[in-house]
Amino acid sequence: MADLVTWQGDPVPYLTRWTGETAVGGEPRHTRGGLLAYPIPEPEDWAYGVLWRRLRQAPGVGRPEFRAVHTGRQLACLRDGRCQICGDLARTADRRVPWLFSVAEADRLRQSQDAWTATPPTCRACTPPGATVFSAAGAVPVAVLGDIYARSGHRTDEDATVLLGETATLPDVLGKRLIVEITDLRVEPSGLPPQRIPAQRPSPDPQ
Ligand SMILES: [Zn+2]
Repeated sequence: MADLVTWQGDPVPYLTRWTGETAVGGEPRHTRGGLLAYPIPEPEDWAYGVLWRRLRQAPGVGRPEFRAVHTGRQLACLRDGRCQICGDLARTADRRVPWLFSVAEADRLRQSQDAWTATPPTCRACTPPGATVFSAAGAVPVAVLGDIYARSGHRTDEDATVLLGETATLPDVLGKRLIVEITDLRVEPSGLPPQRIPAQRPSPDPQ
C-alpha cells in the first residue's frame, strides 16, 4: 500500500479532493470544430471523447473535502482499476478486481440490468478487517457524469449522465466522473486470500 496523505493524523483516501485542488485552465468553450475545450488545450484533457474537468493536482494542500472526489484521480481509478484509498492497482492474483459496497448497493448492482457505478475499487490491503468484499471480473466505461455546455458558452445542464455512445452530445460535456459497468459481481469468501479462492466461473472472463 502506498503512503497516504494525512489530515490531522488520519489517512485521506487517494480519491478525495482537497480544498487546494481548485479548478484550473479557465472556462471551457466550444472550438470552431464544435468540441468543448479549454483555452489552452492539452492532449490529456480528453478521454472517451469527453473533455474532463481540470483540477489542480495537490493532495495535502488545504483540507480534504471528504464528500468530493478529484476528477482526474477518479478517472484514473476507474480507467486503470486503481484503489480509491491508496491509488495502487487493485486487481488481485486471480485477475479479479475487489470492490467495497454496502450489501444493499451490491444487491442493487447485481439485480439491475445495468450494474453501473462511479465508485472505484478498493484493494485488499486497504480493506478494513471484517468488511464484506465483492469482486468483479472487470469494469467497462459506459457513461460520464458531467455538465453540458451550449455553443453559446452557457452551462445548460449540471451533473447529467451521458452515455459514451451518445456521440452527438459528448463534445458538449465537461466530464466530472466516469461511470463503469461492472461485470460478474460476486461476494468474496471472507478471510480467504484472493489466490485461494476456487476459480469456479460460470462464464468466461471477458478481460
Ligand atoms: Zn489500496
